[in-house]
This record gives sequence, C-alpha cells and structure tokens, in this order.
Amino acid sequence: MVETRAEDVMAAPVNIIVGSHVWVEDPVQAWIDGEVFKINGEEVHVQATNGKTVVADISKVFPKDTEASPGGVDDMTKLSYLHEPGVLHNLATRYELNEIYVRLIFSFPFHDLTWSNPTYTGNILIAINPFQRLPHLYDTHMMEQYKGAQFGELSPHVFAVADVAYRAMINEGRSNSILVSGESGAGKTETTKMLMRYLAYLGGRSGVEGRTVEQQVLESNPVLEAFGNAKTVRNNNSSRFGKFVELQFDKNGRISGAAVRTYLLERSRVCQVSDPERNYHCFYLLCAAPPEVREKYKLDHPKTFHYLNQSNCYKLDGVDDTEEYLATRRAMDVVGISEEEQEGIFRVVAAILHLGNIDFGKGEEVDSSVIKDEKSRFHLNTTAELLRCDAKSLEDALIKRVMVTPEEVITRTLDPGSAAGSRDALAKTVYSRLFDWLVDKINSSIGQDPNSKSLIGVLDIYGFESFKFNSFEQFCINFTNEKLQQHFNQHVFKMEQEEYTKEEINWSYIEFVDNQDVLDLIEKKPGGIIALLDEACMFPKSTHETFAQKLYQTFKNNKRFIKPKLSRTSFTISHYAGEVTYLADLFLDKNKDYVVAEHQVLLTASKCPFAAGLFPPLPEESSKSSKFSSIGSRFKLQLQSLMETLNSTEPHYIRCVKPNNVLKPTIFENANIIQQLRCGGVLEAIRISCAGYPTRRTFYEFLHRFGVLAPEVLEGNYDEKVACQKILDKMGLQGYQVT
Ligand code: ADP
Ligand code: MG
Repeated sequence: MVETRAEDVMAAPVNIIVGSHVWVEDPVQAWIDGEVFKINGEEVHVQATNGKTVVADISKVFPKDTEASPGGVDDMTKLSYLHEPGVLHNLATRYELNEIYVRLIFSFPFHDLTWSNPTYTGNILIAINPFQRLPHLYDTHMMEQYKGAQFGELSPHVFAVADVAYRAMINEGRSNSILVSGESGAGKTETTKMLMRYLAYLGGRSGVEGRTVEQQVLESNPVLEAFGNAKTVRNNNSSRFGKFVELQFDKNGRISGAAVRTYLLERSRVCQVSDPERNYHCFYLLCAAPPEVREKYKLDHPKTFHYLNQSNCYKLDGVDDTEEYLATRRAMDVVGISEEEQEGIFRVVAAILHLGNIDFGKGEEVDSSVIKDEKSRFHLNTTAELLRCDAKSLEDALIKRVMVTPEEVITRTLDPGSAAGSRDALAKTVYSRLFDWLVDKINSSIGQDPNSKSLIGVLDIYGFESFKFNSFEQFCINFTNEKLQQHFNQHVFKMEQEEYTKEEINWSYIEFVDNQDVLDLIEKKPGGIIALLDEACMFPKSTHETFAQKLYQTFKNNKRFIKPKLSRTSFTISHYAGEVTYLADLFLDKNKDYVVAEHQVLLTASKCPFAAGLFPPLPEESSKSSKFSSIGSRFKLQLQSLMETLNSTEPHYIRCVKPNNVLKPTIFENANIIQQLRCGGVLEAIRISCAGYPTRRTFYEFLHRFGVLAPEVLEGNYDEKVACQKILDKMGLQGYQVT
C-alpha cells in the first residue's frame, strides 16, 4: 500500500523568513496577524497590523495565507494552511458575511482499500450562532434546493447534513444519527428543529391534511419547550433537559413513527430561580392566559408567586406570553393531548404556583409548624382545590411525617424550615412527573412503527459546563459530554489510528486523547464516583463530608482527580475539556430520588384523574420501605442505552459555536470560540484530517496509474512493492509511506 499526504501543514512552521506574513498569539485577540521584521535564532519579531510589536517563539508563529479567498472557504480542508489561526480567521471571515456554516470533510478508506470508494467519510458541520433571524436560509426554496443536491455542491448547511443522513439511510438501509453539540446558547435546539423540519419535508406525505406523524413530531417541540425550557443567563430559551428524537421511516422513506427520549430535567428550577433568570416558560404563559382561564385558576401577575418572584425577570424580549399560551394549546392539540388532559395539565401548573405560596410559622410544640397566615391558608385551599385533594390532608402531608414501626405508628412534626423543604419537594416531584407524562403522551400519541427498519436519530443535549459553583447537575452533564466525546473520538480518531496500526504505518503525529480514564473515574462499578455516591446515600450516617473524604482516599493517585487545597468537600475532575471543581455538598440529596410517602398517598387519592394518574399506586412492599433509588445510576443506564443506539448508527456531527456571551449578532470573540472548538474536538479533527494519509492505493493500482513515470521499472521484473518504491524514489516524492 502506498499512502501519500499533502504538505505537512500542521508541523512546525515552514519557511518563516523576514517579510513573511504570519499569525502570532495575543493575550486579548487570541491571534493577530503581522509581518516578520527580524529573526533571532528561535525568536521571531513581528510587526502586527494592529500596531503592536510582538516577539514570539518560532514554534508559535504560523504562516498567513496571503492569497486566501476574501470570502473564506466553505470547507476547512480547502485552506492552504490548516492551523488554529487559519481556521479561526476563516470562520470569522465567513461569519462577517452571514455565512454561518463551514464544513470539515475528511475521508478515510478504512476497510475497502480502493481509494475511489472510501468507506468512511467524516463530516463535521460547524455552525456559528448568528443571533439574528436569517429567514432566507431556511425557507422552502432552500429546502427544495438541498433536496437531492449532490453533497458539497451547495454551501454547507444543516439541510445538507440531514440530506446526506436521509440518503444514506435510503440507499444503504442503515440507521443514521445526527449529534448536535455545543455550549448553552450555541444554537443546538434551533439546529435540531431545522434538521427535523427538513427531514419532515423529505419524509412527509405531500398533500395529506391533518395531523400527520411529521406534524406531530414538529409540534412536540413547542410543547416540550414550554415545560422544559427557561430563560437563563446564557440563553433566553435554554433547554433544561437533554433530548434524543428518533424518527422512524418505512420502506418508502416516509416518516412512520417517532420516539422522544429525554434526559435529566433540571428539577431545582421549579422552586429556585436566581436573578435575572426565569422559571419554566409554562408558568408565565399561564399567568398571561385569557382572563377566564386566569380566574379559574386564581392566577395573578407572576410577581405574586414565590416560585417566580425570586427573580425580577418576568418578561422576555420579543415574546408575548399570551400568544405563547395559545400557541402551546394549539401545539398540544396537534400532538394529540385532549382538551381534558390540557385542562388537567394547566391545573397542575397553577397548583404548583399556589403551593409555593404556602408559608409556615412555628407551631406550639417544639419542632412543629403551622400554616403561617390567612394568605397561606388561601393558597393551601386553592392548591387542594386544583389538585382535587383534601385540604387537611395536604396540610398534614406538608408538616407531618408518619413512621410505622412494628410496635406503633409515630407521628412526627416538621419545623418550619423542613416543612418548606417538604413543600418544595412536592412541587418538584409533581412537576417532573408532569414533564415525564408529556413525553410519554407525545410518544404514545405519535406512535412507534414496529416495522421500521431504519431511523434517523437527532441528539440535542447539554454541552460541557463549568461554572463558578458546580454541583451534581454539572457532574451529570459533563459525564454525558465525556461519553459523547468518547463516541466522537472512537469514530474519528480511534478507528483511524487503528487502521494505521493495522497497516503498520508510523503514527506519531497525533497523541490520541483517550478519555476512558475519566469515564472509569466516574462510572466504574464498583469504585467509581457514582458507585461511591450510591453507597454514601444508602448509609444513613454519611454526610457530604464523609463522602468527599471517601473520594479523596479512593482517588488519591488518580491522574484525573484532584483534591483542591484547603477544601473539605469539593473535588476537581480533569475533564477532556478542562478542569471542573464540584461542590459535593448537595450530591447526596440530589442523587436520592424518592417520593415522600405522605405525598404519594395524598396524590394517589386525588379526585382529579389527571393528577392521580401522575402518581399511580405503588406495589405493596415498596410503599413501606422507602427504598432509595439513585438518579446518578439511572442516568448512567440511560446514557449506556443512548450510546448503544448511537453505536448502531452512522453518525454525523454538528458543532454549534456561540460567538459571544452577550447574545448579539456580528460579535465574534476569538478566544471564546477557540475554547469551544477545542472542547468540541474540532481542532483535533482538523489536525487529523491533514495529518492522515488521504490517498491510499494498492501496489497494483499504483503501478497501473503511475508506471508511465518510470517505464523502465515496469519492464524490469520486480516485485510489486519494490517496483512502487523505485518509482517513488525516482520521482523524489515526499510524505508517503509504503507498507
Ligand atoms: P442551545 O440549544 O444550544 O442552548 P438555542 O438553539 O436555544 O441554543 O439557541 C439560542 C438562541 O440563539 C435562539 O433562541 C435564537 O435566538 C438564536 N439562534 C440559534 N440558532 C439560530 C439560527 N440558526 N438562526 C437564528 N437564530 C439562532
Ligand atoms: Mg437547547
């Protein structure tokens, strides 16, 4: 086999001389361009175009492509220099022209070694959030153009990715998946919706009126967004759950069913919002519903509700909550949620708001509490009315706990703080059950096609997070991202590397970054962090401190685990995308998923079939022992199953990039973007695509094609391999390997 590659572009800079146009690092801009005016050994002196003079080590100076096309290139591999500043500059140039998509294609002929028939083509689409509507980019005319167009013929686009996935599915009968990633606010959800719209366009039944599967799939988005999205500092419409939508197709390529799987809804937001964020959209839109609806649920301005007024933000720019309420109802109609069910849903939403307004005062006995005042009493009664349960039972469920021992039944009272905790726990449980109900309903209403042979999955899941304070949620989110990164690595890097190893080609170029060790640290059973957390949760005496101590002891020598100095309860994990320090303080509480027995009893007995349906009676044994169930372990299983699904598909990747943190158009923050490209593995992928040997030929093919260059070799009676070598030697070719 003879493998050749283009110029070794990522290696140390070539031909940097006085007068060269180059890129040098800059603490503010990340990279700035300029001209070399002096070279002193390894020291390069650069006069930057912004006026600065910079001295940099020669290994950190990169040639600038002075003949680059002024509008940039649509495929990164077309750049003459594929290095970080070049990639960044290309993205910036295109972004300025509102060209928000850039492609990165690389093909490796893995198994079938005829170069004309590569069996694996890696394809990553980089999408930079425009933060402005670009309607022409997504209209029907655009969809028509992409439908059936040759890949690469048109500009890079999410439609092109969906088109490739769809056609691969039709032609090869294989399942495909599109993995959309990026940090919060990067544009994942918008991208996912566009993908689904295009797939519905390809796989829809033209001329069919009414509720088609594809329409139901599309309308499931606004329903889930109303209940699972909220304004955060990073995104005004931030999805607070992960989502995998599986579109099933029949043998004619028509959408015949769909399934939505969701992951880990953020529960704490129901009771706790910090300024300037908001709670879930559904609360505000219900408060803005037409007057008769508001009256029915005794609703007033959001600022009158404790669960909403912890933040001063009530309205979203450019969003009319009344209109949103009506739109949500319409979407629910299309999805197949009946009028009665909708009524039940909003009654529960209103009940949660009233529940949050019940305050507790100190009771007469020690550690007991009472309903604080008349106002709280009003909200208690309203909550009970809306949930169709007995007000006294609700009161008891909030402030008392019953313990059954073999000898007697003991009733314990809760102090006001614990009663408030009990109230919030009830709100969170009811809300998350409501959300799960919606997902189940959407799935049963759209329906699954048991005969579907192939599917296209679209994954829209939270990106890597690292905040000032990180808790269990970030731990789970970053765990997800480690899993996805490994999937990406395996696909792009590991397979590539294995192929080279198999053919005994030297592969010193890329230090492949395997993150299996981080995954072991988190999920290994026994001994990983999740396993230790579960152990701590089951052991009554453990506290967050004993849990943290256990981690320190166990992972003393783990490269990926760091105990921060002076800290007694926090720990740092060295993730593929950087170090993140987690506060262990609430890990135990947040990992425990159990419903307070009193709450269960209360709601099971509700006279509202909808509310009662959210709390089906538990089987006998489990209701007695309030057995702990682990959120971490369940999440781990969900992820495993997701990975199994993804592994059985041909993946396509879309990396969404957030160009700035102020959520405004035209602002392109270099350092910020580079960080995201690094975290997403984009730079690694670029590196590999030019480090690899893109052309492979068998000895026979090579001789056949290039024999004319050295006819004397063909005439000589050489072994094929020797003959190839002789041709290569004669032509003085560089950058190839013969194996
Ligand atoms: P994520 O799901 O990654 O957190 P979203 O998809 O919700 O981010 O995008 C955040 C916001 O950015 C959207 O509400 C929208 O205003 C804007 N946005 C994202 N992608 C696009 C796009 N392709 N065109 C126009 N605006 C976009
Ligand atoms: Mg989102």
